[in-house]
Amino acid sequence: RKPDPAISEVHDKLKSVKHKILVLSGKGGVGKSTVSAQLAYALAGRSHEVGLLDIDICGPSIPRLLGLSGQEVHSSAAGWSPVYVDENLAVMSIGFLLPNQDDAVIWRGPRKNGLIKQFLTDVAWGDLDFLIVDTPPGTSDEHLSIVTYLKEAQVDGAVIVTTPQEVAMADVRKEINFCKKVGVPILGVVENMADSIFQSPLGGPKIMCEKMSVPYAGSIPLDQQVMLAGELGKSLRKMAPESSSVGRIEKVVDNI
Ligand code: ADP
Repeated sequence: RKPDPAISEVHDKLKSVKHKILVLSGKGGVGKSTVSAQLAYALAGRSHEVGLLDIDICGPSIPRLLGLSGQEVHSSAAGWSPVYVDENLAVMSIGFLLPNQDDAVIWRGPRKNGLIKQFLTDVAWGDLDFLIVDTPPGTSDEHLSIVTYLKEAQVDGAVIVTTPQEVAMADVRKEINFCKKVGVPILGVVENMADSIFQSPLGGPKIMCEKMSVPYAGSIPLDQQVMLAGELGKSLRKMAPESSSVGRIEKVVDNI
């Protein structure tokens, strides 16, 4: 197979990023973007230089989750400048490039993948300790090709977000097997919306992880404060320091 020249470009461009972490989910709506946002906040809270890249180009929710709706990016000779939440938390999302937040992105595969590649090469991140990449949900070929692509750009690994139900985990198993096949290390599975009515009598993510020999990174409860932090675009840690979910998120960060 011929090497894709864009891959070495992505690799070169992301050389100044120490750790590149993909956040994946089998299905939409399980809290992948919420977890990406709170992981980024938590890592920034530990004084790391953090970038958050939203390539969920069909439903970019990162601007809202970070309180950055309506912001625009500027381009310079070095590339697109990300939008900064704090000095050490930089964000880039397709949402910033859409003229209207309510516009649907209906680009087809090749153009979408082209945009994603551009995102990976053209953002002027500067030196980062962590780049968290919020990926589109799904296990279609098109989606999985993005994972392969990022693998070749030498990501550290993937964090996989799931809710406890079997319907969510069926897709997660596919995703895990795919990562194993292409050699993307699984840094951990995060059980989101835990301790809730979604608890399944059929087992749950922890047991799935044991069976599939992948690390379980911990759980985040279904918690109104977590939802509110997202709605208001805030760091949970800053908005509700008393919430027990703060410690649960910190534990997930420790485990990945
Ligand atoms: P995805 O990125 O997987 O599509 P989102 O992060 O957009 O999912 O989350 C979907 C919805 O669920 C959002 O309204 C979000 O606020 C809410 N949500 C996610 N995780 C939690 C949680 N642990 N507790 C309460 N609400 C949550």
